[in-house]
Amino acid sequence: MDCNKKIAIAIDGPAGAGKSTIAKLVSKKLKIVYLDTGAMYRTVALKAIRENVDTLDREKLSKLIERINIKVEYIGEDQRIYLDDEDVSDLIRTPEVSIGASNVAVIPEVRIKMVELQREIAQKCSVVMDGRDIGTYVLPNATLKIFLTASIEERAKRRYNEQLLKGITDVSFDDVKKDIEYRDKNDSSRAFAPLAKADDAIELDTTIMSIDEVAKKILEQIEGIC
Ligand code: C5P
Repeated sequence: MDCNKKIAIAIDGPAGAGKSTIAKLVSKKLKIVYLDTGAMYRTVALKAIRENVDTLDREKLSKLIERINIKVEYIGEDQRIYLDDEDVSDLIRTPEVSIGASNVAVIPEVRIKMVELQREIAQKCSVVMDGRDIGTYVLPNATLKIFLTASIEERAKRRYNEQLLKGITDVSFDDVKKDIEYRDKNDSSRAFAPLAKADDAIELDTTIMSIDEVAKKILEQIEGIC
């Protein structure tokens, strides 16, 4: 499917709702860029962890963010993320970085810098962007806004299975579930650009939907706007 206009598709929702899988699929189908904004917050967290900076320390984080260089590049359809010129795409997927990302994402100075980068990319080309605040804050005029949800059990199950597939066997299902619950609470309760459904977003509960069913529903919406 080709789209003749420049478009922006916002896909928001909590961890494990299926955002990245769906966003990748949709971007591939439309042959447009996919931007995983969570990777940016993860990269900030990785830098803080490496420098022994507490990810809850606003003062230190707002200084750290001034000297961080985050770059996103594409190798075919694969998004790679660089921290000060080092490809950290595979290093930011640990449980420690997940929690750290949720902590640094509360800090307004961090968000402002990340949102600047995200808007820059969306200005240059058509994008499918996934995150927590894309429809409400980053791209309030997005062409299409989707909000994905799923039950906590299902989301934890998906993340746990993903980890097993990656060969990570030292994290239990309960640990994964607790991490997700912590992040849900942190992401939804922060004052600045919290995780929320935009009023004009289409909400899809993916608990018992297959990936293809979700993608089909979204592509049907896109057909109407392209
Ligand atoms: O999407 P992902 O799970 O990789 O995101 C990691 C963390 O980054 C989230 O738990 C959330 O706290 C933060 N995040 C955010 N806003 C976004 C994307 C991610 O606050 N747009």
